[in-house]
This record gives sequence, C-alpha cells and structure tokens, in this order.
Amino acid sequence: MVKIGILSLQGGFQAHIEKIEALGAKALRITSSEQLKDIDGLVIPGGESSVFLKLIGPKFKSRLKELDIPTLSTCAGIILLAKKVTNPSQKSLGLIDIEVQRNAYGRQLESFITKELLWTNTNKKTTFKGVFIRAPKILKTGDNVEVLITHNDNAVLVRDGKNLAATFHPELCKDSNEIHQMFFNTITKNK
Ligand code: GLN
Repeated sequence: MVKIGILSLQGGFQAHIEKIEALGAKALRITSSEQLKDIDGLVIPGGESSVFLKLIGPKFKSRLKELDIPTLSTCAGIILLAKKVTNPSQKSLGLIDIEVQRNAYGRQLESFITKELLWTNTNKKTTFKGVFIRAPKILKTGDNVEVLITHNDNAVLVRDGKNLAATFHPELCKDSNEIHQMFFNTITKNK
C-alpha cells in the first residue's frame, strides 16, 4: 500500500488526509522530522508558513532531501519549499525552484474562490474550483519548472521534478480529486 505522510503540525492537514485516503493510500500524520521515513510521498498543507518554520525543527530539510520523495505542497506549504520568499522575506527549504510572494492578493478579506482555472497544456478550464486563502503568488520559476495551471496569467500549479506545488487549495475542492491523483501517480511512477 502507498504510504503518504501529511505534515500535521498546524494548518489544513485534515482535508488532505481525507483526499489521500479516498485514493486508497495510507495517510500518516507527520509531526516531527524523525517520522520522515518509510513514506512514499509527503503533503505539506496550507497554514502559516512562518509557524511551520518554527515547528519543523533543524533536521527537517536534510531528512526530506535524503528521502527524495515526491511532495505535494499547497499555499503555506509552497512558501516553505520555495527557493526564495518575499513580503516579508523569510527562510525556506529551497526544494522548489520558484520565488514566491506571501499574501500576494492581500489580506484575508481578499481571499477568493474561482469557478475554474486554466490548464496550460490543453488551454482547457479545470472542472474544479480554485480556493485561494491569503495565497502567495509565484513570481519566478526556474528553467526546469513546468507551469501546469494558471489563473489570470499567474502560475498557480507548478511541477519541479517530483514536487507538485499549488498556491490554491485542491484539498478543499469537494468535487475533484484530480491534483491529489496526479501526486499519487507521481508516487507510483517513482516507486
Ligand atoms: N498567508 C499564509 C502564509 O504566508 C499562507 C496561507 C495559506 O496557507 N492558506 O504562510
């Protein structure tokens, strides 16, 4: 059985657990870097990236690098994994070759839900909504980063190798499991 860790220190981990279990995988709550072993993939949920940074501890980055498994990060999760963070600038793990601006759409009142987003490879609209909660914007992507979905010309889902990263919250789309399925497929290919 595929085993997927969900970083569960803080933030929106429960909805991810439900999506992962719906795919038939085993969801394991991760609350310390010692638990970063025997998992085939890791989800880093939304929440508050500055709080994640305080809670993950100093060994998290090296253990995750060593594991070298696919990740799915959403919102604060992508801020944690990005190479560079602004507004304000903040330390990050640098596993995904992107630059992100925190809270780039404004404060909580400017959070929003779009009816659909745009797949860049087909120019087709997604069949699911985009839930943006105090979301970051991806300002720059490295040469090897693919932009998979956009919203108003902003990259909102990108892939850097085995890492899938969304500025929105696919775990809150009740009607679709598509992004979690993509992540799951990356894991089964990687195994
Ligand atoms: N604004 C949060 C941060 O900067 C992210 C918000 C979220 O994860 N929904 O960390």
